[in-house]
Amino acid sequence: MRCRFQHPFKVVWENPKIASICSAMPNMAILQANIAAALNKNNLSESDKNRLEEYAHRTASGYCAGCAGICEKTVDLDIPISDILRYSMYNHSYGDRKTALRLFNNLPAEVRANIFKADYSTAEKFCPQKIKIGKIIKRTCDELA
Ligand code: SF4
Repeated sequence: MRCRFQHPFKVVWENPKIASICSAMPNMAILQANIAAALNKNNLSESDKNRLEEYAHRTASGYCAGCAGICEKTVDLDIPISDILRYSMYNHSYGDRKTALRLFNNLPAEVRANIFKADYSTAEKFCPQKIKIGKIIKRTCDELA
């Protein structure tokens, strides 16, 4: 039997374009799920893949794909958008506020000052994940600064 944590790994492992993944395993439950996924030799069914595809599509705006070359060049101030969205993910999705705080506060003061001055409208227009970049970046700044 597969638990919900195994499916994303199976998708990655079944993709011949991906050679390796790096997964944080901060607790025993995640470690055990990863081991179970590695030992499970059954491939995902088409319906599993379709459901995951649909889930990825429905939740896309909550996940930054790290394609910083698309959004960051559209903002005329120096702001590492994908990094800051990752810090937000550490804080909200992983519950790791300590890491989020450390990384955010390591940003140069000038970069942090730019956050509220920038116009993110073009970045949002081109973002393939349709993320509300400005809202999330500013919220992250409020939460972590
Ligand atoms: S374009 Fe969107 S998904 Fe890509 S790095 Fe920028 S915010 Fe993230």
